[in-house]
Amino acid sequence: MTVNHDALQQPQSEPPLCPVGETNCPIVTDVVELRQRVNELANLVRTDTLTGIANYRYFAQALEQEIERTQRSGQPTSLIMLDIDFFKKVNDQWGHEVGNQALIHLSQLLQQTVRKLDVPCRYGGEEFAVILPDTNLAACLPVAERIRQRIEELPLDVDGHPLHMTVSLGISTYADRQETTVEELVKQADHYLYRAKESGRNRVCHAKLPRIDVVTAEEKQALSHLFGIGEKTKD
Ligand code: GH3
Ligand code: MG
Ligand code: MG
Repeated sequence: MTVNHDALQQPQSEPPLCPVGETNCPIVTDVVELRQRVNELANLVRTDTLTGIANYRYFAQALEQEIERTQRSGQPTSLIMLDIDFFKKVNDQWGHEVGNQALIHLSQLLQQTVRKLDVPCRYGGEEFAVILPDTNLAACLPVAERIRQRIEELPLDVDGHPLHMTVSLGISTYADRQETTVEELVKQADHYLYRAKESGRNRVCHAKLPRIDVVTAEEKQALSHLFGIGEKTKD
């Protein structure tokens, strides 16, 4: 079962009824309008003004919810942190306004690339995050790689000129029900993001994939004995 992130919005409620049974009650109309306004404001509070995707406030709330869900159900949650490579140069070469358009373009690519239940967010500046509920590291990897490729392959068109961008990505996964926090998961993903930058940018870095075919030292020794290998006889 996955968390419905729409639930973070104001709950939908039945239209109110006039207490004295008037059909065209002006107070009821006011209440309906006010509720609508509250919903609009709630949406504004969780939305990044420039890109229209979820902002940091919503990111922290949603990731907190997913951590709780993993603790309850044991179903994993993955987090991708991504940062645009050399974005300062984009601003320097194309101007700040085109830089803003590039951030909007990248947000749209993110939204188009992830599943409906994933949560793409603007973490801040030229840094973005995607929360992937119900997703372990092995399943998260192709998503991160797809995001990387799409951004590399689909430049922003600026008056007929392509503005190319690449991103570096780091992944963290939470699956073991041990206590963790939003900060801890962000720190882990950031660690791998930093590694992606250090090792040349435009790449995805992550922890080692758990191996299902791991052979213990004892098992290795037993096999060596069995096949008479790995033991050196003294001359
Ligand atoms: P790196 O590959 O190491 O990440 O290099 P970088 O140039 O992307 O990183 P740096 O931190 O030096 O620069 C980030 C730039 O992102 C500088 C800042 O002006 C720009 N930036 C952050 N937020 C916005 C924004 O909302 N609009 C625009 N146009 N630029 C932004
Ligand atoms: Mg940055
Ligand atoms: Mg950057």
